[in-house]
Amino acid sequence: MVKNGCPFCNPLTRIIKENDTAQVILSDPRKVPGHFLVVPKRHIEKPWQLKEKEINDIFQLIFFIEKKIIGKLGEGCDIRQNYRPFINQDALKIDHIHFHLIPRSYKDYLYQKAEHYETDLFAELDDLEREEVIKLLD
Ligand SMILES: [Zn+2]
Repeated sequence: MVKNGCPFCNPLTRIIKENDTAQVILSDPRKVPGHFLVVPKRHIEKPWQLKEKEINDIFQLIFFIEKKIIGKLGEGCDIRQNYRPFINQDALKIDHIHFHLIPRSYKDYLYQKAEHYETDLFAELDDLEREEVIKLLD
């Protein structure tokens, strides 16, 4: 199921590392130096469409890259997968599923530019909300 115009279905010149079903590229554009993407070779848009082999291959590459990042490009690493079907594909939003690895350090550039107030977003979890959300799993 290859979609026309998908930049991740043919990133051949950008592949840094790969295994059977997944590959690593540098994000371009990127948020910070060392912003990697781990991408399944198969065009998949919904995370739950990944097969077990793809999940294993993806996380093998994620943890390989994470270990390389830590201590060299950052003190830590964020791993993120965004599923946002409500946003149309463009240069900053690609439908082909991918996992971001972003080097992080204490009060780094991303913290200063975008996450400085993030702790204000947290609210106490009450019993009603807890029950309602848990019901979704039935
Ligand atoms: Zn694709």
